[in-house]
Amino acid sequence: MLLFTPGPTPVPQNVRNAMSDETMHHRTPEFEAIFEKTRTHLFKLFKTDEVVMLSSSGTGAMEAAVINLCHNTLLSINSGKFGERFGKIALAHGLKNVEIKNEWDTPASVEDVVAALQANADIDAIAIQISESAGGLRHSVEEIAAAAKEINPKIMIIADGITAVGVEPIDVTNIDALLAGSQKALMLPPGLSLLGLSNAAIEKIGAGKGYYLNLASEVKKQRQNTTAYTAATTLTIGLLEVLETIEAEGGIDALYERTAIRAEGVKAALEALGLHVYPTHPAKSMTTIDDENASEIRKLLKEEYGVNVAGGQDHLKGKIFRINQMGLIHNYEMAWVVNAVELALDKLGRRTYDGTANKIFNEISFKIGK
Ligand SMILES: *Cc1c(COP(=O)(O)O)cnc(C)c1O
Repeated sequence: MLLFTPGPTPVPQNVRNAMSDETMHHRTPEFEAIFEKTRTHLFKLFKTDEVVMLSSSGTGAMEAAVINLCHNTLLSINSGKFGERFGKIALAHGLKNVEIKNEWDTPASVEDVVAALQANADIDAIAIQISESAGGLRHSVEEIAAAAKEINPKIMIIADGITAVGVEPIDVTNIDALLAGSQKALMLPPGLSLLGLSNAAIEKIGAGKGYYLNLASEVKKQRQNTTAYTAATTLTIGLLEVLETIEAEGGIDALYERTAIRAEGVKAALEALGLHVYPTHPAKSMTTIDDENASEIRKLLKEEYGVNVAGGQDHLKGKIFRINQMGLIHNYEMAWVVNAVELALDKLGRRTYDGTANKIFNEISFKIGK
């Protein structure tokens, strides 16, 4: 079965092998050496002043960022389930929350954010997804962050890059916390989350908030190549292997370029079949199609062609399907996926199969790809 959901993503064989060794003790020079190497790679990936790893799924990094960086009112951007989660986290911790809510195909506008900040001087942090995985859209985080800092230079920008870090270059000039998670673009099993932090963020964190998710304790320990609590040793070993593999395959910029071409190829191939891309501003992490036969297409993909793609949640259940584009994906697998979608449409009597999707994907990925 080809796993083509936008998280979890498949774990490459060499990474699985690297994680199959005996469990290491975390308070040893051997593990600290691995931790240090991993950190060095992470600084290159995040391009932020500091980086910390947490043993938690991605939501742990979201909660850590909110409680440590928001001390009064959080402005959260809800264009989907993950954006909605930021608001729920704030309320769960007794913080105030202002939300900008849009349909799941619509990114937040700079104007709406500026208006919210002007209307509420208590807002001291903004939380936003770079790629909102619920509908597969890309928010203009960099522009929003720049506009927000112009109004209030002290405001903290929390950018959830769980389906963006490792997918496309991110300008972190105005970002204070950049979040990532192991099971999406980083091609690992779930259980590790990561935060890139700005110096301004570290200053605001001060002595930190919370206990397990106290970022001050983690920053202090991780600068010494250890962790405040037991490290996710096996996942850290896997992460180092992933980051070394990306390096060996031409480096992160080459991966960004290949991902962008893959995204363009999938979108063009599916649109040529008459399918409709759901978000008005699609992220490069995935292609989301809204379609009245979304459930039937997913079922055929899985049962007839061995391809597992994701559906929708909440009000989009049965209305969309989402195809992953993150990670070290072989073009021949991606070509198989778009071809399988075309075969499914033929089976549904929607369109006679003629190989269009495969042709278009290959033209784009091999003409301008590597
Ligand atoms: C997957 C994901 C998360 C975190 O989810 P977990 O299940 O806690 O790992 C957060 N934000 C986005 C955009 C995601 O795609």
